[in-house]
Amino acid sequence: MPVVTTWTGSVDVAIVGAGAAGIGAARRLAALRPELSVLMLEAGNRLGGRACTAAPFRLDGEPVDLGCGWLHGARTNAWTAIAGELGFTVDRKPAPWDDNGRDLGLDEGDQADCEAAREAYFGRVEARGEHEPDGAMADLLEPNNRWNGLLDAVGTYINGVELSGASVIDFNRYEPGPGPDWRVRHGYGRLVSTFGVPVPVAFGATVTRIDHHRGAAVTLETARGDVRSRVAVVTVSTAVLAAERLRFDPPLPDKIEAATHLPLGLANKLFLHVSNPDDLPFDAHFLGSPHRTGTGAYQVRPFGTAAIECYFGGAFARDLEEAGAEAALDFARSELAGQFGHAIRDRLTLAAASAWAGDPLFGGSYSYARPGASDRRGILGAPVDQRLFFAGEACSFARYSTAHGAYETGVAAAEAIAAQITGS
Ligand SMILES: Cc1cc2nc3c(=O)[nH]c(=O)nc-3n(C[C@H](O)[C@H](O)[C@H](O)COP(=O)(O)OP(=O)(O)OC[C@H]3O[C@@H](n4cnc5c(N)ncnc54)[C@H](O)[C@@H]3O)c2cc1C
Repeated sequence: MPVVTTWTGSVDVAIVGAGAAGIGAARRLAALRPELSVLMLEAGNRLGGRACTAAPFRLDGEPVDLGCGWLHGARTNAWTAIAGELGFTVDRKPAPWDDNGRDLGLDEGDQADCEAAREAYFGRVEARGEHEPDGAMADLLEPNNRWNGLLDAVGTYINGVELSGASVIDFNRYEPGPGPDWRVRHGYGRLVSTFGVPVPVAFGATVTRIDHHRGAAVTLETARGDVRSRVAVVTVSTAVLAAERLRFDPPLPDKIEAATHLPLGLANKLFLHVSNPDDLPFDAHFLGSPHRTGTGAYQVRPFGTAAIECYFGGAFARDLEEAGAEAALDFARSELAGQFGHAIRDRLTLAAASAWAGDPLFGGSYSYARPGASDRRGILGAPVDQRLFFAGEACSFARYSTAHGAYETGVAAAEAIAAQITGS
C-alpha cells in the first residue's frame, strides 16, 4: 500500500477520509485522469471507514463485519462487480428479510398477524406522496397496535433511530437498486479496504481546518502538517461535520446545518462465540422479542461458523454501548436463552463488539433525515466553487446509509473533477 510518511508538497486532489466514498473517488480519478496526483488524508490507521472487517481470535480468525455486511441491491451494487474483479466470493444465500424469510420465533397465527400489521404499516408509509407534507414515520403507526414495538425495533435497524425521529419522505426515497441482498464471504470491509490499497494514503492525518479562500490553493490543516491541493473532496460523516471537528474557512453554515438535520443513527454489532454449536440452526435469524423496541436481531451461525451476530439499533444500542460490551453480552445471553434455553448462556463468549457512536471519527453508523430534512442531502453534497467537493453516504438521495451509495457519491465527485481540472 502506498502509505505516505512524509509530505511531498502539494497535490492535485486531496481526499479527506479513506472510507467507501473516498476510495471510490480516488480509484475513479486514477482511472480517468492517471496524471493527477491524489492523496487520501485519513484520521484513523486503516482503510475502509465504516466498512470494517475484524478477524477475532475467539472465532479462529473467521472474518466478521463490524460495519457494513450486506451488499444491498446486490445485482447492481458496484461492490459486487469489484468483488468479482478482486476474486472475493459473494455468498448469494437470500437474506433473512428476503423471500419472506421472516422467522421471528412466533407461532403461525401470530406470525401471520404480525406480517399483516407490518405490510399495512409500510403500505401507509409508501402511500405518503412525495409532495405531501413530510412527517415522522411514527405518525403512521396505528395507535395501540400490538406490533408497534416490533415495527419500531425494525425501524431502529433500518434507520438507526426510532420511528419518531425519521422522515417518511426520506425513507420513501431510499432505493438501493435492483437485486437481493448478498454477503461477501471474507468481509465487506476487507473488500473495500483491498480496493483502496493502490491509492496513496496518509494515516493519522486528521484534517481540522480547510482554508478554501478564492485565488489560492486549498489548504488542509492536518495533525501531520498542512497539505495544499487544487481541489479537495470531503467524505467525513455528518456527525463529524455537525460537531465541527473539521472547520471551513470561509465557514460553510449550510453544510453544518444540513449535516445536523441528517444525523447518524446508531446500529452496533456484537459477535459471540458459541461452543459446541452443532445443535444450533445454520445461518438462522430471529428477533429477541417481537413486542418491544429495545431488542436484538440475531443471526445464528452466519456461514455456518461458531458465531452469533447480534444487532442493536437506536437509543437502545446507545445505552448498551455506554454500558459496555460485557453488559451487551449479558443482554444478548438472556435473549438467546429465551430462544435456545438457559444452558446456552454459559456457551457464549464475547468475540468482538462495535462502538460506532463513541468513536469520534464516525459518531454513529449511518445517516437518517429528520422529518422535513430529506432535501438537505442535496445541500450537503453540492460542491463549493467547484473546488471543494462533498461525498459520502449521506450525500446520496436514494442510497444513503449504504456502502455502495457512498461509493457512488465518490465516483460522481471524481467524474466532476476529472471533467473540469486542467492538466497538472
Ligand atoms: C453496524 C453497521 C452496519 C451497516 N450495515 C450496512 C450494510 O449491511 N450494507 C451497507 O451497504 N451499508 C451498511 N452500513 C453503512 C456503511 O458502512 C456506510 O454507509 C459506508 O461505509 C459509509 O462510507 P463513507 O465513505 O461515506 O464514510 P466513512 O466510512 O465514515 O468514511 C469517512 C472516513 O473519514 C475519516 N475521518 C473522519 N474524520 C476525519 C478527519 N477530520 N480527517 C481525516 N479523516 C477523517 C474516518 O476515519 C473514515 O475513515 C453499516 C454501517 C454500520 C456502522
